[in-house]
Amino acid sequence: MCGIVGYIGCKKASPILINGLLKLEYRGYDSAGIATIENDKICCIKNKGRVKELQNSKDINTLNGNIGIAHTRWATHGKPSSTNAHPHLDSHKNFAVVHNGIIENHNELKKFLLDAGYTFSSETDTEVIPNLIDYYYSKEDVADKERFLKAVNKATLDLKGSFAIAVISKLEKDKIIIARKDSPLVLGVKDDEKYIASDIPAILEYTNDIYILKDGDIAEVTQNDVVFYDKNLEKVRRELESITWDAKASDKGNFEDFMMKEIHEQPEAIRETIGIRITDNKPCDFSDINITKEYLSEISKIYIVACGTAMHVGVAVKPIFEKLTNIPVEVDIASEFRYREPLINENTLIICISQSGETADTIAALKNAKENYAKTIAITNVTGSSITREADFTLYTHAGPEIAVASTKAYTSQIVLLTMLAMHFSETLDLHKDEIIQNLKSEMMELPSKVNIILENSDEIKAFAKKIYKEKDLFFVGRGIDYAAAMEASLKLKEISYIHSDSYQSGELKHGPIALIEDDVTVVGILTDRRLLDKSISNLQEVITRGAKTFIITNQDIDKKIFPNIFNIPKVHPFLSPTLSIIPLQLLAYYVAKEKGLDVDKPRNLAKSVTVE
Ligand code: GLU
Repeated sequence: MCGIVGYIGCKKASPILINGLLKLEYRGYDSAGIATIENDKICCIKNKGRVKELQNSKDINTLNGNIGIAHTRWATHGKPSSTNAHPHLDSHKNFAVVHNGIIENHNELKKFLLDAGYTFSSETDTEVIPNLIDYYYSKEDVADKERFLKAVNKATLDLKGSFAIAVISKLEKDKIIIARKDSPLVLGVKDDEKYIASDIPAILEYTNDIYILKDGDIAEVTQNDVVFYDKNLEKVRRELESITWDAKASDKGNFEDFMMKEIHEQPEAIRETIGIRITDNKPCDFSDINITKEYLSEISKIYIVACGTAMHVGVAVKPIFEKLTNIPVEVDIASEFRYREPLINENTLIICISQSGETADTIAALKNAKENYAKTIAITNVTGSSITREADFTLYTHAGPEIAVASTKAYTSQIVLLTMLAMHFSETLDLHKDEIIQNLKSEMMELPSKVNIILENSDEIKAFAKKIYKEKDLFFVGRGIDYAAAMEASLKLKEISYIHSDSYQSGELKHGPIALIEDDVTVVGILTDRRLLDKSISNLQEVITRGAKTFIITNQDIDKKIFPNIFNIPKVHPFLSPTLSIIPLQLLAYYVAKEKGLDVDKPRNLAKSVTVE
């Protein structure tokens, strides 16, 4: 979950490493550290808190070496502190390691190392890694040129759990050894400079030529060369990819925060995701995946499996899939799915959604589904991410890098992509739902401009946020597809404003939650489905009667006398409404958090890419 950066080249490493950490800070940020090789030893500086504090620490300018590694940590084992921050060194101070992931058998390994005479100073699982490397290094032939590589390889073979690591040594000062299992790692190359990172944006300003390591890869990186090996230390070839993301896409531009920038990038992200899939009078173009009529005809059930915001996408598109394909759809939380022994077989299709493509729970669920013979489709925003290598088919959203921890443009792009996939399935199955599909296609093309109309009216949301930012509890309610937006709105508010909120299907209020309604509690109602309008209005009147104040997001005609706070969104096909109704609610969460003076891009305890289970 945390961030790794490494550099070897002709320049001073520390500014490059710090710059990379600043770009990765969104992944995890309870502490940070850096280690470089200075003359004959490893110099390491670590701090609790933000990367800025590391950057401003008085010793940072003493680091002049041109090889180094750095890390921002999202603690799993051991509280955030400078001792627990990475890099970690072995007790002989020969090796320094940065690590993302969890070493599940660290207790067992620690016992072995303690018996072998090693000592430990941190509470982390990570500290066993440098000590194991040192242990194996001491056993290798002194004259062996691959001694360092072999020692790291042997150590990684002992590790259970997940890891991406970068290792430097004062004993072999001209190389960095990197390795990964179930945690991402990339390597950028530019002439005689090499850049290592857990995530592409950290190094994009230096190079677009990037290797994406595969699971089980280990590589020896020197200034002029990179050699990849598999876990048996057989050499393997990896293709250099040219990453087309613009480095500026990872900057805030004129916006105060990434989240606001990304909210405003939604029209473009939706347009890019639609891409060439919809063109006049033609079936949706999904020629990048080969899903045939024969295969789809055999499908008896679709599971949409994801976590957090991506799971809410599943809730939003379930009715669309069911209506357009006549196939029953179940939406599952990935961390539950894999352990509940779901009924799956070769006639089940599993659609897994993960913005980063690295979500450990979702990848584990996907692997489990494959073991049970189901076909899998991955929906992700990140080229070459781990999930793409596991799934039978991959479909990309083209939202560009999403940096803010709270997802915005990934959510709307995922809904758009999955809605098109549902149309594609329907067309492939020849279900003759032409009228509805035609409507959806033309309405979808108008979504970007409708999102812009909402964004132009942000001030109304800001004004409402000022009224409610001191509240302790909020409720979001909706019926049918509006409930998906209610769930997502509630999560957004919790994530960045730390205000407790709940979401309910409006009709459920009277079955329990209405007991929580008292004077001045805010209930946000989402009302976009004309068929359910009267029923939803009645439910909201029930809470008004009990003292609640309401804020209504709607594209219907609603009586202002009953509901004084109304935010109007453009009319749209009910199936597409979650893409629009969430925009004011993303803004609401944002403005409430800003009123509270919080850091919206880096909410406490959260990390962008959840690579631990
Ligand atoms: N398990 C390591 C630690 O707690 C790394 C955590 C992570 O990858 O987020 O230091």
